[in-house]
Amino acid sequence: MKTGIHPAYHQITVSCACGHSFTVGSTHAEDMRVEVCANCHPLYTGKANLVDTAGRLDKFNARQQKAQAHKEAAKVRLESKKAKAAEAEAAAKQAETSK
Ligand SMILES: [Zn+2]
Repeated sequence: MKTGIHPAYHQITVSCACGHSFTVGSTHAEDMRVEVCANCHPLYTGKANLVDTAGRLDKFNARQQKAQAHKEAAKVRLESKKAKAAEAEAAAKQAETSK
């Protein structure tokens, strides 16, 4: 093995949403959290129900809500910008006519 080019190798703990945890070797130094593991995945358990604390659908909906809020904030910003521009234009016309 060539020295000085390989990342450090750690033993980390992976904890699942179902409560199961196990150790793995990894170059990632911090402990990990996963949503599904071999202990609770339907393929391995043979059961259809899945222990899912924060599922993909929940995450998707949260992202959608965040995006909607962002869109509305942008709309408000754009409207205030337009209002300011119209105000400035009106002031310019006023100044021009008073000359
Ligand atoms: Zn699990």
